[in-house]
Amino acid sequence: MNLSVKREDLVDYELGGNKWRKMKYNLEAATQQNHNTLLTFGGAYSNHIYATAAAGKRLGLRTIGIIRGEAHNPLNPTLQFARDCGMQLEYLDRTRYRNKTGPEFIESLRKKYGRFYLLPEGGSSTLALKGCAEIIEEIDENFDFICSACGTGGTLAGLISGLKAQHKAIGFAVLKGGGFLSGNIQNFLQQANAESSASWQIKTDYHFGGYAKTKPELWTFIEQFKKDFDIPLDGVYTGKMFYGLFDLIKTGYFPKSSRIIAIHTGGLQGNLGFNKN
Ligand SMILES: *Cc1c(COP(=O)(O)O)cnc(C)c1O
Repeated sequence: MNLSVKREDLVDYELGGNKWRKMKYNLEAATQQNHNTLLTFGGAYSNHIYATAAAGKRLGLRTIGIIRGEAHNPLNPTLQFARDCGMQLEYLDRTRYRNKTGPEFIESLRKKYGRFYLLPEGGSSTLALKGCAEIIEEIDENFDFICSACGTGGTLAGLISGLKAQHKAIGFAVLKGGGFLSGNIQNFLQQANAESSASWQIKTDYHFGGYAKTKPELWTFIEQFKKDFDIPLDGVYTGKMFYGLFDLIKTGYFPKSSRIIAIHTGGLQGNLGFNKN
């Protein structure tokens, strides 16, 4: 058995990880359409909010972040960073947040902020798949399995779209009730016209209680992983994926000669919100 890690986290601390891959072609489209403003949505610790703010600052684009829930002062490290990058923050209560993609609400945002390029929550759009497929192109060793953490499934869909028939993808759901992910991924692939002959499946048993929920056992694993391999993991996504992956290896899931690639999708900024870094 051979396990390699594709370190997307090392591409760039602020922009690194899958959120940058997902944004890349969206930013290109925004520029082509002469937009000077990006508007997007996210939770208060969102890696996507963080990366959008960083990208906006570097590219000289105005950014607006619609944040789920109430404002808290002082700002948490994620939102403080976003604001330092110049992002305008607006808070939306949870009920209204759920309906944030309705045409009336979007229209009210346009009235308020003027013309903007809309990035969906988590950055998962058709164009995001194309950016994530490029992760596969950069892998120059042969492999049988590719592994990634799944939130919306957009990243895994993009990875799948870049795979060949002999490859298998495994997604690790970081939310409770990850059964919805298979349908999501199928939809993403269809919308992007990016069907693939590779097989894939989602593991739903490694969510540790739900999205952004953790247990001491997970932090122990993350600390040991850092000691053993000198690779930092985050508590929301990559920690859960590697925990699950190691469990599958231990329980004999993989044939002996398997070559596995795990994608480190970044997200390390999120550890600051848990007072871990
Ligand atoms: C957002 C995120 C994911 C999940 O990506 P999806 O495309 O929503 O499935 C995985 N890892 C990290 C570090 C992330 O920030």
